[in-house]
Amino acid sequence: MDRIDLRSDTVTLPSEDMRAAMARAPVGDDQYGEDPTVNALQERIAGLLDKEAAIFVPSGTMANQIGLKLLTRPGDDVLVGEEAHIVWHESGAAAANSGVQFTTLGRGGLFNAADVRAACKPPGHVVFPPTTLVAVENTHNRGGGVVFPQDTVEAICATARELGLGTYLDGARLFNTAIASGRSLAELARPFDVVSVALSKGLGCPVGSLIAGSKVAMTRAVRARRMFGGAMRQSGILAAAGLFALEHNLERLAEDHANARLIAERVAETKAVMDLETVQSNIVIFHLPASLPDAAEVVRRAQREGVLVSAFAARTVRAVTHLNVTQAECRRAGEVLARAVA
Ligand SMILES: *Cc1c(COP(=O)(O)O)cnc(C)c1O
Repeated sequence: MDRIDLRSDTVTLPSEDMRAAMARAPVGDDQYGEDPTVNALQERIAGLLDKEAAIFVPSGTMANQIGLKLLTRPGDDVLVGEEAHIVWHESGAAAANSGVQFTTLGRGGLFNAADVRAACKPPGHVVFPPTTLVAVENTHNRGGGVVFPQDTVEAICATARELGLGTYLDGARLFNTAIASGRSLAELARPFDVVSVALSKGLGCPVGSLIAGSKVAMTRAVRARRMFGGAMRQSGILAAAGLFALEHNLERLAEDHANARLIAERVAETKAVMDLETVQSNIVIFHLPASLPDAAEVVRRAQREGVLVSAFAARTVRAVTHLNVTQAECRRAGEVLARAVA
């Protein structure tokens, strides 16, 4: 029995065609600015996001850490949605690298302009940490892959500007947002000073993220990338996968979204708590009430039937669809999960 791996959209493997594109890529030393494939990818992403410049970095975590470094000073307060990746999944890096603290807002990863206004601590106060940045995650991972409503995003960023705060978009899954919402990447990125996108999630690349913003900000980002140990050399080999994926793997994200929906609808027929409203992209998160087995047990049961999912919390399970699982496999995964929670 083939296993169906829904632990994350990071488990995808580069296809033969992607590997061939990587093997063919012209390369040079990127720290001299001489890797033509890296340069092409950076220009392509800057264009798609309608920002002046973009730089290629090894991971989404590094992109987020560079974003924080650019937009804050030690001791600052950063506003983020509940259970943001930048708070939960980066090993405490924000505190270690940039010396910032977080204030979390809203519910399920979403918040609004009024939340920002209420939480913002004014600069120059005797005791408050100065709030200097708002960070939005779109889609929101721990929120179940929800798409941040764009009118809310625009209101948040307008309020942030009015209050003198910087704005950062953790767009590790912004390609999913674009496909799910039918909005362009440029429109989604426009309200923000600095934006990141990941190639190693739904696009199916082995490595890489990009961070984009003004030319001035990206010049500083190049230095931060070097400081964090993320400056690379013939990284065009990796960038080639990104260029390939933008060509071949972007529009097909719609299939992943439909497959997530299939799984979620089957789980919703069980006694698990499955909020179908949150299933807007390629992530399915459901909760297990006390009458059902816990997440670790559900994960074990599913695994015995060849379906891999993650225990996201003691009573929370996550499944993520991607280009290496078919519709038939997702249908089967839904059946397996329905049995596992029973
Ligand atoms: C995966 C992810 C990242 C960073 O991922 P890396 O594993 O460091 O590449 C950042 N933000 C969100 C929302 C993510 O899901």
